[in-house]
Amino acid sequence: MDFNYDQLLEAARAKIPERTTSGERFELPKFDAFTQGGQTIIKNFGDVAARLRREPQHLLKYISKELACIADLDGKRALLKGKFKHDQLDSRLKNYVSEYVLCGQCGKPDTNFIMVEDSRYKRCEVCGARSPVKSI
Ligand SMILES: [Zn+2]
Repeated sequence: MDFNYDQLLEAARAKIPERTTSGERFELPKFDAFTQGGQTIIKNFGDVAARLRREPQHLLKYISKELACIADLDGKRALLKGKFKHDQLDSRLKNYVSEYVLCGQCGKPDTNFIMVEDSRYKRCEVCGARSPVKSI
């Protein structure tokens, strides 16, 4: 054996370009949506939530409140009652990301939620900053 486990891991990691880590510029994901009948269907809702590392339910709750519409998850898709344009959806997503995903200190997207005494905080894995987030 010529290489150890760490080297294998390094090699494996090098082959995976995805994953938002510090240093890379964060690219805001976009919703892939269309309207049908009286509703708007976001096809890649689950993927967007996964990219942001947030629960789809949390993101959906925010979107439905901001657009004042009834919304449901359907597998990876989200169904919104009402017709919404791309820029309406994307601006809500952008607001969600700055409020609930990006670190307020260093601006990196590598954050997760923690609960402190019933309040939700956004904690940054890069710089360790912690800030309370609004409940939806
Ligand atoms: Zn940070």
